[in-house]
This record gives sequence, C-alpha cells and structure tokens, in this order.
Amino acid sequence: MSKSEIDYLIVGGGIFGAYAAKMLSKSATVALVEREPSLMSRASRSNQTRVHCGSHYLRAPRTALDAKKYRDRFLNEHDFAINRGFEHIYAIARQGSLTSAQGFERFCDWLEVDLDRVYDDSIMDSRRVSESYKLKEFSFDPFLIANSYFRELRKNQVSLYLQSEIFNARRENDHWRVEIRDCTSQIISIEAKCVINATYSNLNSVAKQFGLPDIAMKHEYSELLLAYIPTLRDLAVTIMDGPFLSITPYGLSGLHVLSSVIYTHHFSTKDPEVKMPCQTNNRTCQVGNFNPCQFCKDRPMSAKQFMLNQAQSYIPNLGSVYVHGKLETVKSTWAVDDYRDERQTMVRKLATSPNFYSVMSGKVSAIYEMEGLFSVN
Ligand SMILES: Cc1cc2nc3c(=O)[nH]c(=O)nc-3n(C[C@H](O)[C@H](O)[C@H](O)COP(=O)(O)OP(=O)(O)OC[C@H]3O[C@@H](n4cnc5c(N)ncnc54)[C@H](O)[C@@H]3O)c2cc1C
Repeated sequence: MSKSEIDYLIVGGGIFGAYAAKMLSKSATVALVEREPSLMSRASRSNQTRVHCGSHYLRAPRTALDAKKYRDRFLNEHDFAINRGFEHIYAIARQGSLTSAQGFERFCDWLEVDLDRVYDDSIMDSRRVSESYKLKEFSFDPFLIANSYFRELRKNQVSLYLQSEIFNARRENDHWRVEIRDCTSQIISIEAKCVINATYSNLNSVAKQFGLPDIAMKHEYSELLLAYIPTLRDLAVTIMDGPFLSITPYGLSGLHVLSSVIYTHHFSTKDPEVKMPCQTNNRTCQVGNFNPCQFCKDRPMSAKQFMLNQAQSYIPNLGSVYVHGKLETVKSTWAVDDYRDERQTMVRKLATSPNFYSVMSGKVSAIYEMEGLFSVN
C-alpha cells in the first residue's frame, strides 16, 4: 500500500471537481479521484451544453441572475471551447405556456438580456407559437474543456486517480484517512486535511462512505438525442415556457442536442441515492454506485420518436434529422419546488476539523461560486 499526505482530496472529476482541483492546486497539494477513465464523462458531458444567459429561468429569477452573473467570465475563460456561430431562437408556445410574449419580453428586459423579434415565420409554426425572438446564448464543448483541464491539472501536479474509487474512509484526529482503489486495483492510502465531494448524483453515497448525513436531492433518468440537423446549422431553438423542448448545437461537434421536458426524463426519484427501476434488472448497477447509463443494456426504451415528433410539430420545416446517438445520464438537483425550476448552486460543509464539503449545481458556469469557500481548517 502506498501512502501520501495532502491538503485537499477531491472526489469526482466532472467540471466542478476539475475546476476545484485547478483552483486549489495553485497554492496547495491536491489529489482528485474519478471513477471513469477520463474527466467530465458524466453529467458534464451529457447535457445541453448551453452557457445560460438566464432567459430560460422565468420561474426562478434567482437562478436567472446567477446564470447571468458568471456567463461572460465562463465564455472568456473557455473561449477555445465556445461555439458562438449560431443564433438562439426563443419561441413562445401559444398553448400550455407558463408565460406570454409580453411576460418573456418583460423578464428579459429586467434581466438586461437583448432580444430581437423574429418576423420571418419560415422556421417556427406560427399556429403553435405566438412570437419568436433571437438572442445570444452560446454553447460549450465538453471534450475540449475536459482536455484543457486535464493538461492544467497535470501541469499543477495534481495527483490524478482515474478509473479509481474510494474503498474506505474515516476520520483520524484532524484529517481524513482515505483508501483509494486505483485502476490497477492497488490500494493507495491518503491523509487529507479536507475532502471536497463533487460527485453530483452520487453526493449522498460518497458522504455516506465518510459517515456523513444525506442532503435532500431529486434524480431524473435523462435521455437527450444527438443529431445532425442541416436546417438548423446556425440556429438553436427553445420553446417557452413549460413542457416543451430545446435544440442546441452540441459544443463544436457540428451536431445538435435535442431535449424535451416531457420525454427526456424517464424516471424520477427523491431517494437520497440514485435508485431507478432499470437498476433492478442489472446486478452490477447498484444504488449508490450506478454505472454509466449511456451503453447500459437495461436502460429504458428510447423516447426518440416522441421527441422528434414534438420537434417537428413546432418546426414544420425541420427537414431531415440524422440521429447520431444519445446522451443518457442521471440529472440531479437539490430537492426544490418543482414549479420554480430552480438550479441553485450549493456548497454544504458537512464536517469540520477535518473539513468535508459537498458541492453541486445545475449550471456549468457556476464553477466560480466555489472560489474562496474551501479551507483546510
Ligand atoms: C440532461 C442535462 C442537461 C443539462 N443542461 C445543461 C446546460 O445546458 N447548461 C448547463 O450549464 N448545465 C446543464 N446541466 C447541468 C450540468 O450538466 C451540471 O451542472 C454539471 O455538469 C455538474 O457537474 P459536476 O462536476 O457536479 O457533475 P459530473 O459531471 O456528473 O461529475 C461528477 C463526477 O463524479 C464522478 N463520481 C461519481 N461517484 C464517484 C465515486 N464514488 N468516486 C469517484 N468518482 C465518482 C462521476 O464519474 C463524475 O465524473 C444539465 C444536466 C443534465 C443532466
């Protein structure tokens, strides 16, 4: 068994764990443990890749303001990975929408987001949407960001344990004693002054390994479609506000990612740990330690055709949609009021001396909210 002493142990190498490692390694010793073979291979890769400007969150003004607060900094610092080559159409559904065109305009005015009314009705079906607006909302490329963070963590001498998991954890005086099983099945013993838990859907499962309490969360099994859509080459579309859909460029891949409020989410649970019906068929996918959903043979039946039909009903000239694949994962949020659609960032300190923090957010640009919050004592 090899042994080492460090300041921070970060569990989870999604965008939050990777950014925390990058930030802290400038002045402290850091190790990062990630279960998958590469950084950002779960939610940080399987999402709509929107760098939100806030206009999507009409029912959650605080979330809208948070999104706007960090948007420009995120875009600037990740410029190499940002797709700015499209316009985002926000269309207001005539039926079933929780907002009106005036309500949306007023909200964007309050948020100081610039809108341009679209008068050309060749894209959206004017029988189904009342008004459409164009605004600037870009997308990020998760693969390029993961590669860049990986290089920076190596440069900053972060000890990276990929394809590794925590095997055992306990308090020992003023530090955590953590045993990690690495990719060669070797057990590494680490003495860490502080642990940061950035495992998103697995937050409660990892906290439990450290003997710490649960936080109320909600988990949803999510399916997104990845497709080549020539008609939308330089466009994104979001229908507001309620059980509708979004189609956005997936980073710089040349593909779009299609998400539907009613069809994307297959199952939902408020159990503290991820517990989905599909896990009962798969013995290797355990509560608290679920496998990647992407290629699982027991994942739920695809809602692909429903999603495509819904998209075509709003965008009659959508034309050919070449579905290239799917992004499947568990989407998690803090258990908040469903109506308000809030995506608050929370950093919870679950233990003191030695410190232990759990961090999670519903927006990638919120990585900056972690700054200045962690300490070893
Ligand atoms: C369907 C969907 C759409 C979304 N759309 C957007 C969007 O358009 N724009 C936006 O800003 N945000 C969006 N989000 C939210 C965004 O994806 C998340 O806020 C962000 O990716 C969370 O990053 P993370 O690092 O906390 O989680 P993750 O990227 O999931 O990272 C957690 C990591 O922890 C690892 N891990 C888990 N358990 C263990 C363990 N026991 N040991 C070691 N490692 C472990 C996992 O393998 C994973 O790599 C969306 C999310 C989903 C699911």
